[in-house]
Amino acid sequence: MKILISADMEGATGVTWPADVLPGTPQWERCRAMFTSDVNAAVLGFLEGGADEVLINEAHWSMRNLLLERLDERAEMLTGRHKSLSMVEGVQHGDVDGIAFVGYHTGAGAEGVLAHTYLANSITGVWLDGERASEGLLNARVVAEYGVPVVLVTGDDLTCEDALGYAPQAPKVAVKDHVSRYAAVCRTPARTAADIRSAAPARSARAERPHPRPGGPPTLARGVAHDPH
Ligand SMILES: [Zn+2]
Repeated sequence: MKILISADMEGATGVTWPADVLPGTPQWERCRAMFTSDVNAAVLGFLEGGADEVLINEAHWSMRNLLLERLDERAEMLTGRHKSLSMVEGVQHGDVDGIAFVGYHTGAGAEGVLAHTYLANSITGVWLDGERASEGLLNARVVAEYGVPVVLVTGDDLTCEDALGYAPQAPKVAVKDHVSRYAAVCRTPARTAADIRSAAPARSARAERPHPRPGGPPTLARGVAHDPH
């Protein structure tokens, strides 16, 4: 069994502020260790649950955030950009049995810690077939085209709520509870790692493959912020 982990950073343990996820800042240096801890916990959970291969796809910003040297040696990591399927690169080769969305967040225009859809300051909303879309929903629809189920979602509590819509069966782990866009009640990395590790295996053992949606291509709309200058 091969599991792909799509690893984004805004929904990682301890992260609540733009500088926490901005490469090069001291806070990013600190937070990338907690991000790595979340991802490694998922790796360990899936391996314990019967996966024999885990590939991590870095999905945040420059896609160079995780500390490879701290990951379980059985995992492999796809680092850097550009990649044709971006956040879910690697799902298209027919050998992936399930995908985990680790460190995910809610979409542009929604409540949630660091909520956005792809471009934080320019896209004000994305609608897929009329429904307000998060990156989780968009990526869930992409992986469904390849028959791959979402088997784990981690992020803040509102991200878990959002995931009920696109991955109702997947276990969800809230590593923090939303207070405002830039504030959350955070649990420690030790605790969230234990939560993620224990949530990961259950689903990987009994993942059901989704069927691609019938009908024509979906309609996608987006709102774009106007530059005041
Ligand atoms: Zn994101």
